[in-house]
Amino acid sequence: MAEYIANLIIIGSGPAGYTAGIYAARAGLEPVMISGFDVGGQLTMTASVENFPGYTRAVTGTELMSRMHEQALNFGVKIINDKVTEVDLSTRPFVLSTENGNCCKTKSLIISTGASAKWLNIETEKQYIGRGISTCATCDGFFYKNQPVAIVGGGNSAAQEALYLTNFASKVYLIHRRDLLRADSILQQRLFTNTKIEIVWNSVVEEFIGGQNISGIKIKNVLTDERKSIDVAGVFLAIGHKPNTELFKKYIALDEDGYIITKPKSTATNVEGVFAAGDVQDKIYRQAVVAVGTGAMAAIEAQRYLSSKET
Ligand SMILES: Cc1cc2nc3c(=O)[nH]c(=O)nc-3n(C[C@H](O)[C@H](O)[C@H](O)COP(=O)(O)OP(=O)(O)OC[C@H]3O[C@@H](n4cnc5c(N)ncnc54)[C@H](O)[C@@H]3O)c2cc1C
Repeated sequence: MAEYIANLIIIGSGPAGYTAGIYAARAGLEPVMISGFDVGGQLTMTASVENFPGYTRAVTGTELMSRMHEQALNFGVKIINDKVTEVDLSTRPFVLSTENGNCCKTKSLIISTGASAKWLNIETEKQYIGRGISTCATCDGFFYKNQPVAIVGGGNSAAQEALYLTNFASKVYLIHRRDLLRADSILQQRLFTNTKIEIVWNSVVEEFIGGQNISGIKIKNVLTDERKSIDVAGVFLAIGHKPNTELFKKYIALDEDGYIITKPKSTATNVEGVFAAGDVQDKIYRQAVVAVGTGAMAAIEAQRYLSSKET
C-alpha cells in the first residue's frame, strides 16, 4: 500500500484548530487534526462564554467546544486524539511523531497549539479555576459587577486588566510581589490615579478561601511576613502566558516571548507550507473569536498553497 501523506495536518483542537479543520474540510483537503490531550483547548476551563457571536445566551466553554468538534466531524475532519512530540519541518513532506507512537506525513501544516496561562501553583488553586479564578479579565471581568476582585501581577497585562476590571468591579486589589511595577509608566499613572484600585505591594497569594466559589484570598507580605485576608469574589492571574511552541523552535521563527511570527495579514510562517493560527501567534488579543478568525485564514492559505503546488 502506498504511504499515506495528508494534504494538511492541524495540530491542536482549540477554536483555531477546529475552525481551520472545518474550512479545510469544506475545501476538500481531507484534513487530519491531532487534537492534543486538552481536547477543546483553553475555553473548556470556563463555565460561561458570553461574547461568542451567535450565542444569545451564555454557553459553557465545554459546550461551545463540543459543538465545534461535532461540526468538524460532520464535515469529515479526521480527528486523532494524540499529542505531537516531534516535528521535522526540514523535509518534504513534513514529518510528525506522536506520543502514541504514530508517525504522520503531511504536505502542509497548521500549528494551533495555543498558549498556556501561568498559574501560581499553590494548593487550593485548581479547585477554584472557573469558580472565581480566571486568567482572562477581558473574558470574565463582566461577571463581577459591583463586587471586589483581585488581580495578581505587575506587568502591562496586569495593569491593563486591572484598569479594565474597574469598569465592573466595586474594588480592584492589585497584588504585586515587589515594590515596583514592570508596567509602562503611562499605565502606572492610570493605576495610581484610579480610586477603585488599591495596590498591595510586596505581597504574594498564599491561599484561596471559599466554599464552592472563592470568597477571599490570604496574602503574605514578603518583607514583613505579615499575613492578612482580603474578601474578593474573583481573582485574575496576569502573571504571563507561555505559547506552546517548544516543538517548533528549531524550524519556525519565534519572537522574544516564544510566539510564532507570522507574515503581516497572513498566517504564513517562515517555513513555506506551515501556517500558525490562534493564541500560538497572538499575544495581543488572546480571544476565541480572534483564534477562530486566524484558523479560517490558515485553512484558506493552506488550500491556496496546496493548489499552487499542483500546477
Ligand atoms: C478561563 C478562560 C476564559 C476564557 N474566556 C473567553 C471568552 O469568554 N471569550 C473568548 O473569546 N475567549 C476566552 N478565552 C480565551 C480563549 O480560550 C483563547 O483565546 C482560545 O482558546 C485560543 O484558541 P487556540 O485554538 O489558539 O488555542 P487553545 O484553546 O489554547 O488550544 C490549544 C490546543 O492545542 C493542543 N495542543 C497543544 N500542544 C499540542 C501538541 N504538542 N500536540 C497536539 N495538540 C497540542 C491542546 O490540546 C489544545 O487542544 C478564555 C480563556 C481562559 C483561559
